[in-house]
Amino acid sequence: MILYSTKNRENTADLKTAVMKGLPDDNGLYMPSEIPQLPQEFLDNLSDFSFQEIAFTVSKHLLQGAIPEEELQKIIENSITFPAPVVSLDDKMSVLELFHGPSLAFKDFGARFMSQLMSYFNREEEKELVILVATSGDTGGAVAAGFYKTPGIKVVILYPSGKVSHLQEKQLTTLGYNITALEVDGTFDDCQALVKKAFLDRELNEKIRLSSANSINIARLIPQSFYYFEAFKQLKNKENVVFCIPSGNFGNLTAGILAKKMGLPVHQFIAATNANDIVPSYLKSGKYEPRPSVPTLSNAMDVGSPSNFARMNNLYSSTWNIMKDDIQGFAYDDATTEKAVLEVKNKFNYTIDPHGAVGYLALKEYQNDYPNTHGVILETAHPAKFLPDVERILGRKIEVPQRLAELSDKKKESIECNTEYKPFKEWLLSHH
Ligand SMILES: *Cc1c(COP(=O)(O)O)cnc(C)c1O
Repeated sequence: MILYSTKNRENTADLKTAVMKGLPDDNGLYMPSEIPQLPQEFLDNLSDFSFQEIAFTVSKHLLQGAIPEEELQKIIENSITFPAPVVSLDDKMSVLELFHGPSLAFKDFGARFMSQLMSYFNREEEKELVILVATSGDTGGAVAAGFYKTPGIKVVILYPSGKVSHLQEKQLTTLGYNITALEVDGTFDDCQALVKKAFLDRELNEKIRLSSANSINIARLIPQSFYYFEAFKQLKNKENVVFCIPSGNFGNLTAGILAKKMGLPVHQFIAATNANDIVPSYLKSGKYEPRPSVPTLSNAMDVGSPSNFARMNNLYSSTWNIMKDDIQGFAYDDATTEKAVLEVKNKFNYTIDPHGAVGYLALKEYQNDYPNTHGVILETAHPAKFLPDVERILGRKIEVPQRLAELSDKKKESIECNTEYKPFKEWLLSHH
């Protein structure tokens, strides 16, 4: 498998380099240079295959021998460990539940697959690999769970003390084993600055093998294409299927475009955002204008400069006309989103989280113009992840999954540190 940089097609790498480095030196993003067409027989008979079998077939074609089949099989078995069920709301709308993993959000798929790939590529190294991650909350939880007990890999997570939610902190600080949480007396930017300094520190890098679990690593994108096939398999009506994706950095949507390019018969995509509507605006006007993000109720989508836009642009040959024919964009404010959470509960007796609710609004508006479609909303997180907001909006208690409820009783273990680089470096050196 060959990957190229979105900044320069000539700048190529193999899968191992792309996964272990995360980003090409020119600050582009890695993309597969060839997107294979899947066998028609496979696409026509998806229901003959389990989710893991689908994931194996899709990745086998995309990875093109970069990993031996028996090894890839093991990687799939260890990463696709929870289902992605489609729940229908009515005969035109369904919800694809992507929250059945350990951190209750779709990012679990990407984090687990990435940890397995890194562990595989690290297998012949004598030195352990140390993954450094700075988090403002959500990513850290998925990465911690995804790398938990992965052989040969240790994870150090830096988070700003007092600035992540109680639940997020528990997800970062209660696992133990190969996961260590550093509680930084500072902001998220301070955490990120420490991590960046460590990557640039030559002396440190000679002694410790460092890597990042960057959200734009290609290893996180690939497994996100699997569940589009898995969802399609479960649909009774496979005519005019549209996927509606609540989006922030647009990784999920980009993975959907990959699935379509590999042959999945998707009629159209819907890009749903909150007030951070950079991409919907672009689809309307042809002008791409990133700007600072604004905070919203659906905070995992508060992104003002969506990192995967470069990948989307590449997939549509940097041509606005082609992209806007394939993707329709919609954006909603918080007040409208709150009403939608309530509406979905009252109309369908389904508890949707604020991110999914943005998707619901977009699908509903789209289907006003295109009634003969069947829409699948990607429910990107479990509503209990946003418990105070969802309970306030609904005016009642909601069910909390056991794996989330259990967290409250687990003991927090973190190492407190300040924002100075020197003690951080010394700690790294003495502990790895
Ligand atoms: C990360 C996240 C998103 C945004 O996904 P992108 O792939 O960045 O567009 C949406 N919803 C939830 C709950 C998330 O955690």
